[in-house]
Amino acid sequence: MRDTLVLNASFEPLSTVTLNRAVVLVLQDKAVVEQSHPALRVRAAAVDLPVPRVIRLCRYVRVPFRRQAPWSRRGVLVRDQHRCAYCGRRATTVDHVVPKSHGGADSWLNTVASCAEDNHRKADRTPEQAGMPLLHEPFVPSPADAMLLGLRSGERAALPDWLAAQPAA
Ligand SMILES: [Zn+2]
Repeated sequence: MRDTLVLNASFEPLSTVTLNRAVVLVLQDKAVVEQSHPALRVRAAAVDLPVPRVIRLCRYVRVPFRRQAPWSRRGVLVRDQHRCAYCGRRATTVDHVVPKSHGGADSWLNTVASCAEDNHRKADRTPEQAGMPLLHEPFVPSPADAMLLGLRSGERAALPDWLAAQPAA
């Protein structure tokens, strides 16, 4: 089962927690269920609750510092939904828009998902040189994007222990 998304009291996505943790937070009145699985229910000793997909904290949690998601090849593929930036077909490789040999960086703005054929065809050229325009511009995922995409953003460390703690189940 997938983790439950936690929204701040302000509805801003904060983190994900395990289902067990989400249920505990709701039972402790620290969070309310915003969305639940239509047919699934949690049943335990004295508990009967719809399985939460999204919960929202009752009290606003201040998150002082949010780090940008670190660049990774997997992250680029996830960000681009495994679609090739040149032809839109399924992508399995990461292409450097400005090739590394021309000083192009391993960065969110310089990399796109690419199918193996287009990556090979573009080779050591820029999109202009190769006559292969990008279907969309690469972007830096926001902390919320990164979390929704399941990218590690390092922001969990900034959350209070009671929220991130794993139950001793
Ligand atoms: Zn392609």
